[in-house]
Amino acid sequence: MPNSYSPEQIIRPEILALSAYHVPAATGMIKLDAMENPYPLPSALRDDIARLAESAPINRYPDASAAALKAILRQNLEITDDMEILLGNGSDEIIQIIAMAIAKPGAVLMSVEPAFVMFRMIATFANIQYIGVPLQKDFALDTEAMLAAIEKNRPAVIFLAYPNNPTGNLFDAAAILRIIQAAPGIVVIDEAYNAFAEASFKNQLGTYPNLLLMRTLSKSGLAGLRLGLLIGKTEWIAQLEKLRLPYNIGIMTQLIAEKVLHHTDVLSAQAETIKSERAKLNAFLGTMRNIEVYPSKANFILFRVPAASQIFHMLKQRKILIKNLDGTHPLLKDCLRVTVGTPDENVQFCAALHASLTETV
Ligand code: PMP
Repeated sequence: MPNSYSPEQIIRPEILALSAYHVPAATGMIKLDAMENPYPLPSALRDDIARLAESAPINRYPDASAAALKAILRQNLEITDDMEILLGNGSDEIIQIIAMAIAKPGAVLMSVEPAFVMFRMIATFANIQYIGVPLQKDFALDTEAMLAAIEKNRPAVIFLAYPNNPTGNLFDAAAILRIIQAAPGIVVIDEAYNAFAEASFKNQLGTYPNLLLMRTLSKSGLAGLRLGLLIGKTEWIAQLEKLRLPYNIGIMTQLIAEKVLHHTDVLSAQAETIKSERAKLNAFLGTMRNIEVYPSKANFILFRVPAASQIFHMLKQRKILIKNLDGTHPLLKDCLRVTVGTPDENVQFCAALHASLTETV
């Protein structure tokens, strides 16, 4: 085809310049890299799910509005009638929907750095300008810098994860409120790690019409289902809803999530175990020479260790997969992030880390 285009000729240059989000191979590894809940559901619940799968009408499209699923979410999260819910194929998709909606020429999407990388990546996908305001050295919000950047850039949307990924901390709530009040556009508080955080902006939803709250079931034990939600005033959600593809939540996700959400006690008990394991892991890391541990309100812990990339590879050789953040941002120099696993996995991680550190000295 002499006249056909090459990818370089028709794909946008900023897409050509991207590298795809890398998901490392994990076969045979103890997988502590992706903030998954390490526990399966109890067998009785899995039997119920098997029966749902048996009778699900998968020859039909799913309920486009996912009404039954939304009803149980509304009930469980005590969402008031003046708020609407938007469902996404994971909260990633919700970030994408928001970015597409605001992608006017010159529009700005703002967050902090370091933050969840998808905020920046999706801004690029949607051809909008991304501004990441650096956090302070201890990963606290730099409120004054944030307020100045808001005034200067007038962002259409600000994303703040609460707790933040990859740092694990909760930003100061009063500082976030100042940002919400100063923001000319919407502020999305991303509470992906809410199950482990004991803090939320849910009660502020009624007070600030430009506040939207994002949640996901991924970290609580249902990562494979892909279900995220955005809660906010109808005036915002109704607009975003127009960009949601009609059948973005598959029938199995709808049925299984609805079933499991009738048994949230199971998920809460698992989250409690993860929190107590987090405390043990934190204490262990705190006893290690040369390691700086950052306090976490999520299901992972960030720590700094000399020669982090080397330690990361040594752990990998020992079949332990965590996340290497060294080199991803100046504030994350020599930082690694470990997801809290089962007690056994955590013991193996600690032993492997200890052995790797001993070998490097
Ligand atoms: N927000 C934050 C802060 C995250 O860390 C993640 C996952 N790493 C997500 C959103 C996306 O989660 P999901 O698409 O699985 O709902």
